[in-house]
Amino acid sequence: MLAGVYSGIGRVECRKVRIPAITEDEILLRVRAAAICGTDLRIYKSGHHRINEGETRILGHELSGEIWKVGRNVTGYRKGMRVAVAPNISCGSCRYCRRGRQHLCDDYDAFGITLDGGFALYMRVTKEAIEQGCLVFVSESVSFEELCLSEPLACTYYAYRSVDTKPGDDVLIVGAGPMGVLHLKMQRLAGAGKVMMADISDSRLALVERFGPDALIRSGRVDLVGEVKRLTGGLGADVIITACPAGEIQKQALYMASKNGRINLFGGLPKNNETVELNTNLIHYNSLVVTGTSRYAQDDFYKSVKLITEGRVELAPIISRRFGIENIVEAFEYAQSGEGLKTLIEFP
Ligand SMILES: [Zn+2]
Ligand SMILES: [Zn+2]
Repeated sequence: MLAGVYSGIGRVECRKVRIPAITEDEILLRVRAAAICGTDLRIYKSGHHRINEGETRILGHELSGEIWKVGRNVTGYRKGMRVAVAPNISCGSCRYCRRGRQHLCDDYDAFGITLDGGFALYMRVTKEAIEQGCLVFVSESVSFEELCLSEPLACTYYAYRSVDTKPGDDVLIVGAGPMGVLHLKMQRLAGAGKVMMADISDSRLALVERFGPDALIRSGRVDLVGEVKRLTGGLGADVIITACPAGEIQKQALYMASKNGRINLFGGLPKNNETVELNTNLIHYNSLVVTGTSRYAQDDFYKSVKLITEGRVELAPIISRRFGIENIVEAFEYAQSGEGLKTLIEFP
């Protein structure tokens, strides 16, 4: 089969590899759609601490597909079932796992990172992944391409939980990329009042306009803090999500939040630039809540799949381009260009 293989910094290519063998405790999945994520691009550009020098890996952790082959010892699954794949497999026994916070587990595996992932026609699903409920059954009604976006949607679900948006809250999302749009959709579901989106790139803002934010802020050209204050009658935003890797925005977020505002630092910062000077008096006197989220609990994933399958959130318009696996390099280049939102690899 053809696969999108990472073999070191700056090297992703389409290679012919063997269809994975499975044991009697495992499942072989036939992948139908897999999306390129910012994490894939970061691995491509700078590697990953869980992929050793000299190792190769089939990337792709945002995926959906159908069950192709079921090991004899596996019960409850059969060929043809359509599934969304939760890619993270935690240890299951540490204090975080036992409390349902699998995303905080240090001892985890993940498809597309430590295990071969979805940029290939077939993927081996391990015993541990099956036992942890990583395969989520869905009905015919939902497309595989929307379904593979359950994973990034789950990240925004967790972020939403951390800021606890209430109906009517004014929300600011900084970063008009695909994650920004998913945040916008999640915040709408939560009943947000005014949703403002900011980005330094005009072309990015033009891409997200169709998703209906109440205000677009060109943060490269206008004073972001002043504009948010103006749009909120001087009060500031109740909820702020920084979906961008910019320390400057984290700093400004404290000035743009209303009293009792909740801020989610969603985007991580580059390794060489991770220290930011904050005016903590704003947190103190304004009773701000500053949170950080990364990944999601398994339940956030299940909720996201439910939102998609029940038609509560429409994700197809976020997909900008689709590629076959033989064009994986072109697909990575397109994703990296930032010209579109989500880029998919499809296996029809
Ligand atoms: Zn991802
Ligand atoms: Zn654990």
